[in-house]
Amino acid sequence: MKILGIRVDELDMQAALEQLTKLLEQPGQKELAQVVTINPEGIMLAKADPELRKIVEQAELVTADGTGILWAAEKLGKPMKERVTGIDLLEKLAGLAAEKGWRIYLLGAKPGIAEQAAAELCCRYPGLQIVGTENGYFRDREAAVLEGIHRAEADILFAALGMPFQEKWLHQHRSELGCRLGIGVGGCFDVLAGTVKRAPLLWQRLRLEWLWRLLSDPKRWRRYLAIPRYMRAVLREKRQIR
Ligand code: UDP
Repeated sequence: MKILGIRVDELDMQAALEQLTKLLEQPGQKELAQVVTINPEGIMLAKADPELRKIVEQAELVTADGTGILWAAEKLGKPMKERVTGIDLLEKLAGLAAEKGWRIYLLGAKPGIAEQAAAELCCRYPGLQIVGTENGYFRDREAAVLEGIHRAEADILFAALGMPFQEKWLHQHRSELGCRLGIGVGGCFDVLAGTVKRAPLLWQRLRLEWLWRLLSDPKRWRRYLAIPRYMRAVLREKRQIR
């Protein structure tokens, strides 16, 4: 479906995992397929940025990361079953990777965080192969980072660089990375490393994860200005549909 003209795929976690498993098991696929996990802020960014919108349009999968997406889908008459967030997708794919032998690379976040996230994942999913980690502040050594990722021969590259940088970077280097699948996962390594706490389950169920994130890091308030604009635009779109 489209929300404010931006693509979001109506599929639940199970269907997303099935689609990605099929892709990862397909022989011979060379160029990176991309997954975008999109939230209301991402919709507003893509709406204003033709380059990002095109990447979203061409992605393998665009999942609903955020209750604001479910809210809009419901308002626009196409309710979705559940969110498919970056962190849930990362955890589920890591579990599957441990079973199936897929190789994982973690790129992003401040120095040391990707390593801590890797240790946490390996502890949760014994047998998981994390074939490389790199922090996300590499602009002055980009060629070496690209070379390192290519050499690691990973199947899945998780890029935790923040939106839209992670989406644009994955897209720009899709032929050089030598990975089958690239997923932008924002602040997920910080959550896995334990430096940022995810909202308790009750807050998640009450659809208040966004409020938890705002309260735990008030410096983010500026980013939340996009939300009332998003809500107004969705309600306007709903009136036009009627
Ligand atoms: N980050 C990075 N390189 C950069 C800018 C940001 O690795 O040049 C990391 C940052 O350290 C954080 C993540 O990207 O771990 C962005 O997290 P945030 O929660 O802001 O992203 P969102 O999920 O909202 O896109």
